[in-house]
Amino acid sequence: MDIHLNQLSMVFDNTTAVQEMTTTIKDGELVSLLGPSGCGKSTTLMLLSGLYKPTSGSIHFGDQDVTKLDAEKRGIGMVFQSYALYPHLSVLKNIMFPLRMKKVPKKEAEARAKEMAELVQIGHLLDRKPGQLSGGQQQRVAIARALVKKPNVLLLDEPLSNLDARLRLEMREEIRRIQQEIGITAIFVTHDQEEALSISDRVMLMKDGIIQQESAPQNMYKKPENEFVASFLGNPPINLMTLTKTHESTVYRLADSKEIIQLPALPPEDMETVRLGIRAEDLFHTTENPLFQGEIIHIETIGRDTLIRMQVGSITVRALVDPEQQLQIGDAYSLGVRPGNVHYFHSESGKRLP
Ligand code: ATP
Repeated sequence: MDIHLNQLSMVFDNTTAVQEMTTTIKDGELVSLLGPSGCGKSTTLMLLSGLYKPTSGSIHFGDQDVTKLDAEKRGIGMVFQSYALYPHLSVLKNIMFPLRMKKVPKKEAEARAKEMAELVQIGHLLDRKPGQLSGGQQQRVAIARALVKKPNVLLLDEPLSNLDARLRLEMREEIRRIQQEIGITAIFVTHDQEEALSISDRVMLMKDGIIQQESAPQNMYKKPENEFVASFLGNPPINLMTLTKTHESTVYRLADSKEIIQLPALPPEDMETVRLGIRAEDLFHTTENPLFQGEIIHIETIGRDTLIRMQVGSITVRALVDPEQQLQIGDAYSLGVRPGNVHYFHSESGKRLP
């Protein structure tokens, strides 16, 4: 069942939390809503769930207009960061709870709850109370409870935020497995880019209530449609700088400095100023026709890589370089860029230049 959002807006007093959002989430897809705090992710999820009604616009589940339909009639399963389990009920009873509310006979409810418990691999914990479970196990119970009514859509609001780093990795793989096993359409809210990029078929990156880009994870990383997307994704953050044309049209200099830079590819349009973006991993040490020359001002080991910061005229450039090199702060250094890894953005609108 596809989900269609059409010009969906939500305004609270004087805050526009979601602004004229139009998009389609395909049947069986896992889509992440990603973005900084306050960008409107949770509000979008609440609108999908029916707990909020939009100020304007519409939501369709398949052919059905659900815009005005109450939450309990939408066929939705929800999983929250806080798990929201009933502490006095056993695991089995927690999972059965939504079915019992719907007056499903006890035997049938129990059988269905057990089946779900097996799917999320907590079949051996049915008699325990939530307080006797680890965070990851509690989240499995919450997922089973969300799925037991066989909803059309699964909504997950930062479901992994309360777990430690290792469990987060394990549980995100689990959520993906379970989602694919039952083939349910799922919408996953997170502010963690790595989580969104690793788990999703598609990522929607939001800012100020507006989708900035929606695409497959790798495409978003490789081809950011604007400067915000480029700077939000990636760690260390992408290098961004303003270039100004000189009297020679093929030569640019770094704005606010005399530094001339020899670009491997010219901006696609002839403009006085343009924004250049290059990711740290796309730079490498070279002395032949380097793009940047400067002085190393910072050296850091991150996992297998060495991250350096280099002063180039008035700006600093981050690069991930060969960890075998013996580098010291104050060394003169030069960097080239791997072909095809240069991003240009319009200096005013921030839009990607093709
Ligand atoms: P976070 O990652 O911090 O949870 P978010 O991306 O989920 O953020 P929302 O919670 O959707 O963002 O909030 C979007 C905007 O709407 C924010 O500016 C927020 O202050 C505002 N907002 C959200 N809920 C309400 C509300 N009930 N009343 C008034 N303003 C609200």
